[in-house]
Amino acid sequence: MDFEPIAGTEELKKEFEDFFREVMKDAPPGWENSPEDLETEEGWAFHKKVQREMGKRGWLALAWPKKYGGLGKSIFEQLTYNEVRAYYRAPGWDLQGVGMLAPTLLAMGTEEQREEFLPPIARGEVIWAQLWSEPEAGSDLANLQTMAVRDGDDYILNGQKVWTTGAHRADWAFALVRTSKELTRSRGLTYLLFDLKSPGVDVRPLPTMSSHSRQVESHFNEVFLDDVRVPLKNRVGEENQGWAITRATMNFERSGLAGFGALRHSLDELIEFCKETKWRGKPLSEDPLVRYRLAEIAVCIEAGHATGRHLLWGQHKVEMGGAPGMGMVPRASSMKYFASELSQRFAYVGSQIMGLYGQLKSQSKWAPMSGRFERAYQAAPGGNMAGGTTEIQKNLVAWTGLELPRA
Ligand SMILES: Cc1cc2nc3c(=O)[nH]c(=O)nc-3n(C[C@H](O)[C@H](O)[C@H](O)COP(=O)(O)OP(=O)(O)OC[C@H]3O[C@@H](n4cnc5c(N)ncnc54)[C@H](O)[C@@H]3O)c2cc1C
Repeated sequence: MDFEPIAGTEELKKEFEDFFREVMKDAPPGWENSPEDLETEEGWAFHKKVQREMGKRGWLALAWPKKYGGLGKSIFEQLTYNEVRAYYRAPGWDLQGVGMLAPTLLAMGTEEQREEFLPPIARGEVIWAQLWSEPEAGSDLANLQTMAVRDGDDYILNGQKVWTTGAHRADWAFALVRTSKELTRSRGLTYLLFDLKSPGVDVRPLPTMSSHSRQVESHFNEVFLDDVRVPLKNRVGEENQGWAITRATMNFERSGLAGFGALRHSLDELIEFCKETKWRGKPLSEDPLVRYRLAEIAVCIEAGHATGRHLLWGQHKVEMGGAPGMGMVPRASSMKYFASELSQRFAYVGSQIMGLYGQLKSQSKWAPMSGRFERAYQAAPGGNMAGGTTEIQKNLVAWTGLELPRA
């Protein structure tokens, strides 16, 4: 990949930075852009406001073709935007809609589906949820049992989904369901899109460790489907062939979860903290152990950042009509594994350096960085599981990347 920025990217970067610097002045106190931040009314209103602003500018769809509401910019401009947005911890970009479904439809949807579903995502008007996991189908997703039965021009859905991030806020869902009992496992699955306001959809909250400790509503849900009608035209790909589409969405999800911009920002702030804070009469920044830890994290962030750029460049080619190919699988899995493990390690290192005061989640001068690393530490295990656990990513790298026997 040629990393040389194309002409005009620097000006665009400044435009993004000016926008996010300004917009983030209105962020609620203690804003981290974590799922829990979105669970207060204030946090959600802020998310929607930034989303609409970005939608108006076309920034949710920078590199999409203009006919679907995009700006037709290059992948370099898209990457620059992703990095700046992540660095400023700005909300308004939803992983499920912009990061997962949109690239899937660009690569594998019908023309009618692209025209119907992409422009509202680009304008920031419609929020999507991912209805895949079930009580007996997480890592083993192909074991899912939610049934969709044909009835005229509709499917009728019955079953239960779980761990659905943001379903209580979302408007629409992309779901993986079983359409054949005869065809086993992944061969009998179909990929459907439906309105979450449809009769028969019941969304119920599931509390989490980090939502409980912050006394906010959970962003997790269970979703029960009771005779939910979905028109046939909302099927992506053929009946019983949803697994290939799902695999493409998974890769987009895994690379979308690997954000290094926010880690860079936290590292910059931690470095400032270490320069300003004395321990045993000396700045923390002079302590050899602290310096080694910071250097180690910095190296990992830079390595991840460069690899992430390479991955997104490859995925952009897929969105624009290139073949998905198995080559994307080990790269997306490596990236997701590396980023989530790094986030956890960084949260641990940050918590150790900050000490006990670093656990205080308040705006006081006695609460350095308002408990950021403690919050990150609680969120990290979820990051290792979301989008497929670390063990599953390693299995995929071994199988599809190293050509070892399939586990
Ligand atoms: C923060 C978060 C957000 C999520 N959001 C969504 C969402 O929006 N929509 C959605 O559909 N799902 C979502 N999920 C669910 C997520 O995809 C599953 O939690 C994940 O795939 C693991 O499935 P499981 O929880 O059933 O664990 P299990 O599959 O039961 O795994 C339990 C343990 O066994 C290990 N294990 C399982 N199989 C193997 C194997 N073959 N080899 C080695 N180890 C193995 C796992 O690594 C894990 O440690 C989310 C999860 C989290 C944590």
